[in-house]
Amino acid sequence: MFDMFRNIIRNLKFGPKTRKYPFEKRPTFENARGGLKGIDAEKCIYCGICAKNCPANAIEVDRTTKEWKLNIGKCIICNICVEACPKDCIYMSKNYRKPSPTVGRNVLVIKQEPKEEQAEAVED
Ligand code: SF4
Ligand code: SF4
Repeated sequence: MFDMFRNIIRNLKFGPKTRKYPFEKRPTFENARGGLKGIDAEKCIYCGICAKNCPANAIEVDRTTKEWKLNIGKCIICNICVEACPKDCIYMSKNYRKPSPTVGRNVLVIKQEPKEEQAEAVED
């Protein structure tokens, strides 16, 4: 009985220790691994090292079409690809993704836009 009153007085003074989830969400920690955000398509050299090191086979890299593909459903958010990338162009987000009901929406495709041809024909 005495413990209960002590708790009531403490809660009235300092507020409850719990949150009213989902209305009040805890901010994610600074170094949390929420999921892969993607790559910087301009910095990427499409070497495929990230795909070779991925333990879940979640990444596909096509060097010829300059396309980088991530199957988010397969990714176990281990961070190995981020550490292995020689160009530091894969980014991890601290925010967690919402679950997706379909497989197709679980694939993130990033493609480098072809650069405009700057060379012009020179006439003699
Ligand atoms: S390791 Fe980095 S540079 Fe190489 S393909 Fe992956 S993201 Fe691009
Ligand atoms: S975080 Fe891990 S599982 Fe996800 S794509 Fe990178 S290496 Fe693969």
